[in-house]
Amino acid sequence: MSNSDEKMLDRAKANLDKEVGDYLSWKQYLWVAATLGVTHCFLEVFYLWLGCTPMIIINIASILSYVVSIAYILKGNTTITIYIMEQEVFLHVILATIFLGIDCGYHLWLFGIFASVFLPFFLPGVERKPRAQIGLFAVLVIIAFEVLVFLGNHHMLPTTYELKGDMAEFIYHVNSFLTFASIMAYTSFYNYSMFLKAKELQWAADHDFLTGLFNRQKSQEILSQEIESDTEDKKLSIAILDIDFFKQVNDSYGHAAGDAVLRGLAEIFRSYKNKGIICGRWGGEEFILISSQHSYEDFVNVLEDIRRETENITFTSRKNHMNVTVSMGAVAYEKGISAEKLVHRADDRLYEAKESGRNKVVAG
Ligand code: GH3
Ligand code: MG
Ligand code: MG
Repeated sequence: MSNSDEKMLDRAKANLDKEVGDYLSWKQYLWVAATLGVTHCFLEVFYLWLGCTPMIIINIASILSYVVSIAYILKGNTTITIYIMEQEVFLHVILATIFLGIDCGYHLWLFGIFASVFLPFFLPGVERKPRAQIGLFAVLVIIAFEVLVFLGNHHMLPTTYELKGDMAEFIYHVNSFLTFASIMAYTSFYNYSMFLKAKELQWAADHDFLTGLFNRQKSQEILSQEIESDTEDKKLSIAILDIDFFKQVNDSYGHAAGDAVLRGLAEIFRSYKNKGIICGRWGGEEFILISSQHSYEDFVNVLEDIRRETENITFTSRKNHMNVTVSMGAVAYEKGISAEKLVHRADDRLYEAKESGRNKVVAG
């Protein structure tokens, strides 16, 4: 399998186990936790410089929460870290607003939290309970923001280390800039992961999971497109290939061994891709081979190469050594013929190949 096909297959399979709403990969979680952890280390220096004892202590708790989060992420438990990190930012910005004053703009981070909370809220498939928790938290974020702004504007916050003037303004700009940056980071992570997911879904819709080859539907689509692009000197040939006595492989060595043979054969067919042969799994132990680059004669020669190569390869699965042969029915495109008719003719020739002894290509 080509590297990109292999990656897509692994990703598609991994995604089947992924929790709904878990739109970041564990590496991205690690990146978020590490970035926030390092930011808090800088904040610790800042709070020490200010001499704001409560925030020095609160920030140590914040740093510890990121150490715990990173440990959880490394263990593979990302869900709990979402809660830890969001609660940390939530509490930290409320307490910083209380101790340093509303003019520092810490409360702006609540917009950032709100954005990150709401991204998974509308994802279809999120269960009722987590969705209700997300909704409740979002409401709390709004209430916290409104209360802080109200108390701040009416000088009712119990601020004991109030920053004023240029310093407050500078911190306000830092906080607003970082809030914008965090929203940009969440949304671009989210969009990128949705983009990857769409690509994986498209890949899964077009390919066969066992062999990684095109599936029947995609093969039909390719064939129809080739026929639609009918030009004067249209070169198009197809073959239907069927493994000989494949049932015996399953019966003698088991279904898993049969699967290994199918994968091994697919590997052979795929190696002809750079020679202009498109291959799809037509169903079960049948494959379709399509070429728009060869004359019919050359195509049949390539089919002979494939037949010979298959005959000479020994497949191995759990110490079982297996040899198989394949039969093929080939046909050249003629103007005006439909895709179904073309496949039908190839099928008839495949039947002839089977009837006349197997391990051969019948080409007309
Ligand atoms: P023939 O030469 O006439 O084609 O004989 P055959 O045994 O290959 O044909 P038959 O249609 O009797 O059997 C096809 C077998 O292919 C039966 C089925 O179990 C097996 N098969 C189809 N799909 C798969 C698969 O995905 N994995 C495995 N292991 N076996 C499969
Ligand atoms: Mg068959
Ligand atoms: Mg067969």
